[in-house]
Amino acid sequence: MIPSDIIAKKRNGEEIQPIELSLFITKFLKNKISDAQMSAFLMAIYFNGLTEKELIVFVDEMIKSGQVLNFHQSKFYIADKHSTGGIGDKTSLILAPVMAAAGIKIPMIAGRGLEYTGGTIDKLEAIPGINIAPSLKTFKNWVNSIGCAIISQSEDICPADNRIYALRNLTATVPSIPIICSSIMSKKIAEGISGLVVDIKIGNGAFMKTKNKAYQLKKIMKKIAKSYEIKIDIIFSNMNQPLGKFAGLGCEVKEAIDCLKGNGPQDLVDNTFELCSHLLIQSNKAKNKKESKQIFDTIINSGKGFEVFEKMIKTQNGLLEKLSENTFPKYEKIVRSNQSGTIKYMDTEKIGWCLVKLGCGKTMKTDKLDFTAGIEFFAKPGDTIKKGNPIYRVFNKDFDKLSSTLEMLSDTVKI
Ligand code: URA
Repeated sequence: MIPSDIIAKKRNGEEIQPIELSLFITKFLKNKISDAQMSAFLMAIYFNGLTEKELIVFVDEMIKSGQVLNFHQSKFYIADKHSTGGIGDKTSLILAPVMAAAGIKIPMIAGRGLEYTGGTIDKLEAIPGINIAPSLKTFKNWVNSIGCAIISQSEDICPADNRIYALRNLTATVPSIPIICSSIMSKKIAEGISGLVVDIKIGNGAFMKTKNKAYQLKKIMKKIAKSYEIKIDIIFSNMNQPLGKFAGLGCEVKEAIDCLKGNGPQDLVDNTFELCSHLLIQSNKAKNKKESKQIFDTIINSGKGFEVFEKMIKTQNGLLEKLSENTFPKYEKIVRSNQSGTIKYMDTEKIGWCLVKLGCGKTMKTDKLDFTAGIEFFAKPGDTIKKGNPIYRVFNKDFDKLSSTLEMLSDTVKI
């Protein structure tokens, strides 16, 4: 098999044979196909897609690249949630402990930031000491004892996604429906789950900019879930504005904690509840939305959800008491409105790129994350605002980076 032949086939829109596709991935993992060749292949997929036959092989190879967890002996419902990515989306940090408190086990494999969207693992790493790469035996023990744990892809589990994910982030090959589908589904299938809820974000800050694209993704995700006998529910949610009042790294962990303590912003609470509700109904813990709301509210109001979150972080060696110290920003600036009126539009993708610039994401392999960085949102589309009122508070530990985002940020709202 000659790698450039396979790349050329995809570039020319021809179908690749299963054996060729399998070899392409396995050789990549053995470093016999370079990052450059894989990047070119991903770009060819970006333009020409994958046929259904190719997609099935691609997902299967991604899963087989590592180990697959097995919870067959468990009497619990084993499930998970994943989102296609957005700005300010910290629902995973809330959902996992809330579902664990409800008696559903959540073995969550999450990702890092992709292009202008935030990543759960990057946010979690704002907590000093946190271990997001344990052995799989340890991960399984954590899930069985605490009810949930959140880790990253690794050399043991989904190594193909781990390496391809990092390449996609740097090569503008993220917003491809078959690649997003295989990235998400391979991680979820490798977790050994029975149920899944997926949040497909739609809007100017999402990878799916249109409903049509979101429906295409939904259709193929359902097909893959069915072939692996996983119950799946898919919701669509709004990414024409950031979720919650904060986006960034440490500040999102803090907002997730606020939410677990019953003080979350309404849009974040609603989105998290919607996702939890699907898992509660799937697992027969609730008959309908009303019952699932009672369960959700009880877990939040009793403090049970936060208790499980604290346990999860402690078990993963995280020092939650050091979160504030580790994420206290050195600099901050306010971006004010230059006119009075109603906010009609927010360029959410651009806000995401501002976050990357501030230190919340990477454009080069060597970039370092700034856990203190983030943006607070004072107004969203539909809100009225007076000239001179604050729209954003921007913060981080690097004055030059902060200063260079201010002009870009002031250009993200239309009044
Ligand atoms: N989350 C993932 O894990 N992969 C994607 O491609 C997008 C979001």
